[in-house]
Amino acid sequence: MIKFASLGSGSKGNATLVCVDDTCLLIDCGYSIRELERRLDQLDLVPQQLSAVLVTHEHSDHIKGVGALSRRYRLPVYMTAGSYLESVCGELHQYHSIKHSEAFHIEDVRITPVAVPHDAREPCQYIFEYNQLKLGVLTDLGIITPYILALYQGCHGLLVEANHDSLMLSQGPYPPSLKARVGSNWGHLNNVQTAEFLGAVDSRNLQHILIGHISEKNNHIDAIQSAVAENFRGDARVTFANQDHASDWIYIE
Ligand SMILES: [Zn+2]
Ligand SMILES: [Zn+2]
Repeated sequence: MIKFASLGSGSKGNATLVCVDDTCLLIDCGYSIRELERRLDQLDLVPQQLSAVLVTHEHSDHIKGVGALSRRYRLPVYMTAGSYLESVCGELHQYHSIKHSEAFHIEDVRITPVAVPHDAREPCQYIFEYNQLKLGVLTDLGIITPYILALYQGCHGLLVEANHDSLMLSQGPYPPSLKARVGSNWGHLNNVQTAEFLGAVDSRNLQHILIGHISEKNNHIDAIQSAVAENFRGDARVTFANQDHASDWIYIE
């Protein structure tokens, strides 16, 4: 069994938990230590139970608390060399350099870093595998590339972003430069892109889709649901992560 949960997701901070037995991996920490502790507590965890931190990229909504967390709780941190060079984490307790497509293990969990088009130096997302189970985490990317589509086939669980509704973004409050950035091939997925991705992956194994990194200003759950309903025919349960609090644990088995 793999269990996972979002501790919070959106432009103001992201953190995700992926756990197998006693191995508990934190993907990103876009929160202060205090806020992270509060959110871990919502899932009956304390930071001492974490095994490692995996960073996706250096944007502050993903990396804000990483350095302090690593130092205080003596946690190893995994990220690409590009993310490490650009990040403002200060000293880390232990740094592991990882490379796109080169799988590595933490305890019994096999982890594959996946290159994504996003406006950071060397961003990656992650696929986790354990005992024939596959969990894909995929946020902060502007388009779905053929390489990504190939790697995310056959997942049992998915955390995928549906960042914005294109019309809401174009008519919304962001300044023109930010609208262009978010909507570009190096920005974030819109609802239709996400829904088409879900329609294109082999979803026979898929048990649960957690949708995250949802813009509070440029998106609405109803818009995501209708885009997904039009494109995705699988039986997987679909739930939504949000900025304010942790999701429930999601179990895939
Ligand atoms: Zn982000
Ligand atoms: Zn980002």
